[in-house]
Amino acid sequence: MPKMFVEVLLDQNLARPLDYEVPANMRIEVGMRVEVPLKSTLKKGTVSKIKDSSQWETVKPVARVISENGELSDAQWKLARWMAQYYSAPLQRVLKCFIPVNVRKEVKEKTQIFLKVAKTHDQCIKAIELFRLKAPAKAHALEEILNAPKGAYLADLQVSKSAVTSLIKDQWISAQSVKLSSELLLEEEFFPTAPKKLNAEQQSCLNAIQNSLEKGGFSAHLIYGVTGSGKTEVYMQAIAAALAQNKSAIMLVPEISLTSQTIERFKARFSERIAILHHRRSLGERTTAWEDLKKGQAKLVIGARSALFCPAQNLGLIIVDEEHDSSYKQSDEIPCYHGRDTAVMRAHIESCTILLASATPSVESRYNASVGKYQLHQLLSRATAASMPKVKIIDMSGVFERNQGFTHFSEELLDGIKKRLGKGEQILLFLNKRGYHRMQVCSSCRHVIKCPHCDLALTFHKSGGFLQCHLCDYRQQLVRGCPNCQSTETLSFRGFGTEHVERSLHAIFPEVRTLRMDRDTTAKKNSHEEMFKQFRAHKADVLIGTQMIAKGFHFPSVTLVGVLNTDATLNIPDFRSPEQVFQLITQVAGRAGRAELNGEVIIQSFLPDHPTLKLAASQDYSAFYDAEIEERKRFGYPPFCHLVKLLFTDPDEKTAQTNAESAYQRLKNTLPKPFEILPVMPAGHAKVKDLYRFQFVIKVMKIGAISSHLAEIQGAKIDVDPISVYF
Ligand code: ADP
Ligand code: ZN
Ligand code: ZN
Repeated sequence: MPKMFVEVLLDQNLARPLDYEVPANMRIEVGMRVEVPLKSTLKKGTVSKIKDSSQWETVKPVARVISENGELSDAQWKLARWMAQYYSAPLQRVLKCFIPVNVRKEVKEKTQIFLKVAKTHDQCIKAIELFRLKAPAKAHALEEILNAPKGAYLADLQVSKSAVTSLIKDQWISAQSVKLSSELLLEEEFFPTAPKKLNAEQQSCLNAIQNSLEKGGFSAHLIYGVTGSGKTEVYMQAIAAALAQNKSAIMLVPEISLTSQTIERFKARFSERIAILHHRRSLGERTTAWEDLKKGQAKLVIGARSALFCPAQNLGLIIVDEEHDSSYKQSDEIPCYHGRDTAVMRAHIESCTILLASATPSVESRYNASVGKYQLHQLLSRATAASMPKVKIIDMSGVFERNQGFTHFSEELLDGIKKRLGKGEQILLFLNKRGYHRMQVCSSCRHVIKCPHCDLALTFHKSGGFLQCHLCDYRQQLVRGCPNCQSTETLSFRGFGTEHVERSLHAIFPEVRTLRMDRDTTAKKNSHEEMFKQFRAHKADVLIGTQMIAKGFHFPSVTLVGVLNTDATLNIPDFRSPEQVFQLITQVAGRAGRAELNGEVIIQSFLPDHPTLKLAASQDYSAFYDAEIEERKRFGYPPFCHLVKLLFTDPDEKTAQTNAESAYQRLKNTLPKPFEILPVMPAGHAKVKDLYRFQFVIKVMKIGAISSHLAEIQGAKIDVDPISVYF
């Protein structure tokens, strides 16, 4: 019998696949998980190719097949290979997206400890209060278990094991060793909601999607629908249509809007089992969801970016909600893929329908619609009685003069807040910076106190009493004297963050109840969601927060939104800055007046005449797009070309720069024309975590034309279609 060989990609990060021989009695397929000998140990990997010869003299045999079924479908393989090539990433790094760590580890312990409270709710509440002082760990553990009405896996809780043991011993909770399954976690019954009768705009959009689903084959749709126009209702009916054809559907949403509010809307509509995938879910939950999908037991997937790689069977529909959202792009890790674009590719490969939607479609997607690649659907009015909010720009330099100094709040905003407080309505205040003061500066020599590890000013956090770096989380005490000019009384604070805004608001309205939402207050698991629930339940009048508060939430009693300052973002020298500011303001503004009450939005700025702000204020997406696409064309930015950013980092500044320069020279001399290559520059943050950063950008018409050249560049982080050319 002729010999057979395979190429195996090891899980550990080796640059190239290794050859192994297939023992005579072993059945093997591309995609299978295998164990192979390397040096003196066995390593796990994935078969990436089968062939009948090997260039090597001696090739060791595959030791064993870990899983019989090919781990990936043909379509998944195709997508992985496309990603590896398009994003210039090693295939094994790409495969990590498709075979998540839990599946790789072959979760051995098939049983888990399942915990439930064993006493009444009231008894537990009392006990928690008692424990709080003497045994806080126990109080915390009991509280966490009490918060999961159907019980919880021990492995999913962030609680002390000894506290749990003691709670079991004293019979506060019961423990059961169970086989891992999703059944136990099936949440409360929902009153099923019937599909709503669609308005004309929604209906014509749904018809087009249904048409595509029936015809089969690849087709792409883009919904431009203002906030509250009923996009979600269209998604649900489109999904129902796909499920009715016995096909499965994947809906991607930005991580931050994947909350129980979103999930409940879908659970209440669909009786099918829904697989929910995102990184906050535990290993157990994710493994179960993955297996349900492979077996075809779950047909509807809702998840963040990475859910796009899931093994959904017989895929009919992919939806990318808020398709403009930059969190779809993986920028900090290889492969630097864009979830939206990769989703379009998956739809292509699987010959299915894809639906992108946003209130502020990305310039690229809107352009694709205008050249006929996507079918465009517009939902221009709100689906309910709610009207669009009124938006006003306030010139803060005038406010500065009248106040003879800085204040967070213009007279209009203060009046607005006062009025809402009087009526028992709610307010959102948006500010793109957390902390108390942005930085400490010497007024005599202008020295800024920076992070010793990064090229960034340290932010003062008053609640913690320390300075903190927002890039690497380094902390230190406040600086007393200027380290540069040694003067002792010249250090002062500049700029403000959410903490300061909250304090100032309390100084003006002593009775006001506030909630602050930023990375500082939402570090704990689920706290993000808890705060939203509290705010919805009207436990606070004002919600102050960073971009976290801008997304997807529906607060019926919010009637005023204040945008305190986005000038800094407007000033970032990046071709996407205007787009980002426009999107952000539109999204935040969209939180106002989502119900019967009319909404008002106040944008405060020192650049009140900035065209982007004006367009955002008039909420005229079409005008914004028309202006922006002109700019992109004039200056040669996407969608009129593709960008590739190559980033070189090194602990030594000179080395980082030299590496960047030599790659630059090499590409400049070898890339096929036409292309443009921009000079090597320090990145927007020139140093992060003790690594110096240099980068350059290439402009080309087709990525495919330069892929092989990029693949030869060593030591760079290659970012194809980067979100930012600056950072
Ligand atoms: P979007 O996703 O575009 O922001 P939603 O789908 O959340 O909008 O819809 C906003 C509100 O309008 C929701 O309360 C939703 O239930 C309601 N809604 C959507 N479509 C309809 C419809 N056809 N008739 C009545 N109400 C609708
Ligand atoms: Zn100084
Ligand atoms: Zn730092």
